[in-house]
Amino acid sequence: MRNQAGQKTISRRSFGLLGVTSVLAASGVAAAPSAFGVGEGPGYGGNETVNTSILHTYDELVAELKTQAAKQSALELEVIGQSVKGRDLYLAKYLSNPANPTILFLTQQHGNEQLTTEGALEFIKSLGTGKNRSVLKGVNILIVPMLNADGAMGDVNFSLDNYIAKGRHLTRYNANEVDLNRDHIVKVQPETQALHNNVMRKYKIDYMIDLHHQGARSQRDGELVSGSILYPTTANVDATVLEGSKRLGAVVFHAIDPTGWGHLGRYVGGTAETISRNGIAVEYGISTLLFEMRGMSDHEYEPYVLGQKSNGYLIKQTVVTLTATTRAIADGSIATADTSFWDTLAEQTSRGEE
Ligand SMILES: [Zn+2]
Repeated sequence: MRNQAGQKTISRRSFGLLGVTSVLAASGVAAAPSAFGVGEGPGYGGNETVNTSILHTYDELVAELKTQAAKQSALELEVIGQSVKGRDLYLAKYLSNPANPTILFLTQQHGNEQLTTEGALEFIKSLGTGKNRSVLKGVNILIVPMLNADGAMGDVNFSLDNYIAKGRHLTRYNANEVDLNRDHIVKVQPETQALHNNVMRKYKIDYMIDLHHQGARSQRDGELVSGSILYPTTANVDATVLEGSKRLGAVVFHAIDPTGWGHLGRYVGGTAETISRNGIAVEYGISTLLFEMRGMSDHEYEPYVLGQKSNGYLIKQTVVTLTATTRAIADGSIATADTSFWDTLAEQTSRGEE
């Protein structure tokens, strides 16, 4: 029933210069969905109110970061630049020992993909507890939460009239209606410049996980996925870097997929180096992993939005991912992570294609 409306929606002006195919590819949906039945797991489906007031605002995020930095001696905050609208962009740093390997977690390049930031905040809080603090002896951790702060606040120079959420809107693009995750070669936008100039070029980083959300209707082996993962797929990536990405993915997969709520597919992604997964791996020799969580916090295209009833397990998925990878790096077990699952991990498909 959403077929006609859906196709109409994705050709709307607000997608700007992007064609339908690139929009779908960029959003993790392999092909135009054709039918939307009732799937398992809580969805939006037009019936549930999606209220974004339960998500941290930018100001609440900054306040929480400052609270944690005051509590945790190992945590330092750095302002790496400003958004189009002048919001300070933060880097949270745990730099225990320059000799340690370093991992960077990046969230919300797309402003409407916020549960990754919620999970990153939970992870930061957990590093202040006795149970998890010990990981810091073996790994340096960098976190850039909510890179697209203006989009996250719906404070943008274009219309969000048709967005679905109730309350504050959140948008993929930055205030200039640019997709930050297509700006990693030319680096025109202030948010992308802040990331490259003051994080990528300033710190020696070994691993990076770029955290996103995809549409709500992707499946693997007939079951809706909780998310999807992929390593760099450009031919220009160094073989050792690629192998590190696959090992990083192995740690994530083996931490998430066996859980009752976790079910991961292989993301269907392109080779463009304008995307951080590819571009950052090539430019800096960093082993990158893309992690796309299920369902977005807000969008004008209904099948991309996931009801807030799913927030709990998706936030947990981020926390488990960040916890498992930092532990595997800290104790060195990432070096022997079994990457053979990649040989059989099926590409996710759209539920609409069934
Ligand atoms: Zn995204």
